[in-house]
Amino acid sequence: MNDVERFLAHAIQLERDAARRYEELAAAMQTDGNAELKAFFARMARFSRLHLAQAVARGGFRELPVMRPEDYDWPEGTSPETAEWSGVDAQMDASDALRLALDSEHRGHAYYAAIAATTQDAELCALAGEFAAEEAQHVMELERIIASRTAA
Ligand code: ZN
Repeated sequence: MNDVERFLAHAIQLERDAARRYEELAAAMQTDGNAELKAFFARMARFSRLHLAQAVARGGFRELPVMRPEDYDWPEGTSPETAEWSGVDAQMDASDALRLALDSEHRGHAYYAAIAATTQDAELCALAGEFAAEEAQHVMELERIIASRTAA
């Protein structure tokens, strides 16, 4: 990938999908016993929406670029943060939800990091690097929560 606008269009789709999935995960957490996780997932959804808005602003898009599904080139044919999300449902328990979220953050990070590592474009390299760093933070947050739950 060597085109900043094209990259941003991908980032927008990735973050939009991630936000939706986090909203689904928040909804799947029943309030009793999982209130904390429910709030956490809602916060992650807000981060994704924020990231989405930043990508829109960076691209100078007055509206989101219109891309057909076949216009995207994702590593595995689907937006990386949502690859494993088909299993989200209201019965999902907290550890499954966290495992899914962690997996998706790993994928998001790998996606941005791979672009930063391979692009020929210096501006895109810096931009993808910033996005990768944010995803790395999401991974760390999830790992911290998972660790604190297993320690309890
Ligand atoms: Zn993320």
